[in-house]
Amino acid sequence: MQSPHLPPRALPPSLTVNPRLIPPLHVPLLVLLLMLGCGLVAYQLSERAGLRALADNGERQLELHAGALESAISLHAYLPSLLELEDSVGLLLREPSEPHRAQVNAWLAGLNQRSGSRVVYLIDRSGRVVATSNWRDADSFQGDDLSFRPYFQDAMQGKPGRFYGLDSITGEPGYYLAHGLRQGGEIVGVAVVKIRLEALEKRWQRAQLQAYVSDGNGIVILSSDPARRFRSVRPLDDARRAALATSLQYHWTRFEELQPLSRQRLSADSELLSLPDPSGGQPVSYLAQTHRLADQPWDFTLLSPVRDVRRAATSHGMLAAVAVALLAFLLIAWNERRKVLATRLAAREALEQANNQLERKIAERTEHLRASNEHLKAQIRERRQAEESLRKTQDDLIQAGKLAVIGQMSTCIAHELNQPLAALRTLSGNTVRFLARGDNATASSNLQTINELVDHMGRITASLRAFAKRGGDGGQAEVGKAVDAALFLLHPRLERTPLTLHRACADARLAIDQTRLEQILVNLIVNAIDALSAQSDRQLWLDGACEDDHYRLTVRDNGPGIPPALRKQLFEPFFTTKPGEQGLGLGLTLSASLAAAAHGSLTAQHPEDGGTLFELRLPLLPSSPAEPRRDE
Ligand code: ADP
Repeated sequence: MQSPHLPPRALPPSLTVNPRLIPPLHVPLLVLLLMLGCGLVAYQLSERAGLRALADNGERQLELHAGALESAISLHAYLPSLLELEDSVGLLLREPSEPHRAQVNAWLAGLNQRSGSRVVYLIDRSGRVVATSNWRDADSFQGDDLSFRPYFQDAMQGKPGRFYGLDSITGEPGYYLAHGLRQGGEIVGVAVVKIRLEALEKRWQRAQLQAYVSDGNGIVILSSDPARRFRSVRPLDDARRAALATSLQYHWTRFEELQPLSRQRLSADSELLSLPDPSGGQPVSYLAQTHRLADQPWDFTLLSPVRDVRRAATSHGMLAAVAVALLAFLLIAWNERRKVLATRLAAREALEQANNQLERKIAERTEHLRASNEHLKAQIRERRQAEESLRKTQDDLIQAGKLAVIGQMSTCIAHELNQPLAALRTLSGNTVRFLARGDNATASSNLQTINELVDHMGRITASLRAFAKRGGDGGQAEVGKAVDAALFLLHPRLERTPLTLHRACADARLAIDQTRLEQILVNLIVNAIDALSAQSDRQLWLDGACEDDHYRLTVRDNGPGIPPALRKQLFEPFFTTKPGEQGLGLGLTLSASLAAAAHGSLTAQHPEDGGTLFELRLPLLPSSPAEPRRDE
């Protein structure tokens, strides 16, 4: 049975590998870029939020400290106008004299002490200081001409004089508040109060605030950091420098610019500045918030370092990058696990599919095998029946062959039996006569001879009966006995056709029915006798020996042999060259089929030195003696 051809099985679609969207080598690069991107975004968001918080806080500080500055100034704003109320002041301006001056000086000193201002003084219309609270001090303005001071000029025009400047003699900074004193609707003099604002700077320093105040010229007049004081927050050209120097507002100060290294405007009143470190270190970044004071053309600027904001933003950026890396790692791990699970699932499905397919095929094959088995059984039954009928036919044929042989030999047998019968008739007649004569001895001898003759006849008929008997496939045979029986059976033929018999058969027990072996031998010997009958030199060789598990028995004659043209038909049924009734053409056919039925063989050979040789091979029975027996 041929197995059906199976087509090569394709991989299940679930096990085929999808092309990757991202080559695996690019994943670390991608994760790195993502980390950088997210870190940057987190940094910027954090920095923006930090700056907003810083700005809110700065706004509050700015309002607080700007308010403090405004109130420090406004606290003294009324003071110059008080001089209008003092009669001695008006008298001195009208009639300058030493007693009047001394009186006003004393009064001014008392006022200055009570108000906490730096100095209070009185200027006449020409701009000369006529009385001052510090008249006793060495740095007293008494008699000085201050007509060039802008606050004097403003006050003389009836405007409130406001001025921040350095003293033209001592260089001491101060804020000047001037007021034109009126008498009869006319300005007769100017009252001036100088206050110091350094206390505010100290307060800023204590609060660790970085702040400065720049005036209308853009010059820093107050600063928590002394290094920034009297620096210009705006670029200064030479003409501007010269103008500021001649005004003597800032004494003889050499101005330097407070220019940031970088500047980024965030809103109308706030910007990011990077200022050089006054101690020579790395530049420092600040959030600069500016507030214009209410009554002054002054800008209050608060500097809030953004270092902490940036440090926090860096931490947040790094945290975000690490979080992204962690997330990416988790995603990669999850994806790998998902892939492993998917592959496992696909493999299991493929296995189940293959299993189902296999089971289906096994079921189909089993069904197919069952059908084939049934078919084979039917064939075996048919064959057995055929073998049975063949065996029966064979038996019938063998029987027919035997009967044919017996028929062929019937003349000889009749002759064989006739001779003793004739002798019996003569002997019995003689015996009667010898008994009548009383010659008992001769009669007894005759009866003895008769007895022997009857025995001889009995043996002939017994061997004929045994030969004619049906045999089976099984059984066993002794070679010597079979050769003896065949020769005995053919004795009459051998007497009529004498020949030289060469017998060298080792005795052995063969796995074949005794009578069947005898029949084969009879057939082969009869053929040899027939072949030799026409010639005078007749030789017949019967040889037998064990070879392995077989017995090889050969029957050879020195007859004319078989013509090559006829050799092919030798074992065909009813092939005979014998004339008339002599041959049936069944002897060799039957002998060959008897040998085959006993798992042996019968073949013809044609020796070069003439004659014919038939080789009979039959299986041995276990434990066979193998001594050759020679009868010449
Ligand atoms: P039958 O003896 O009835 O003819 P066989 O089958 O025994 O049938 O023999 C077939 C033929 O084979 C014989 O007619 C004979 O021509 C030939 N043959 C058999 N044995 C010999 C032999 N020993 N020598 C020559 N021819 C033989």
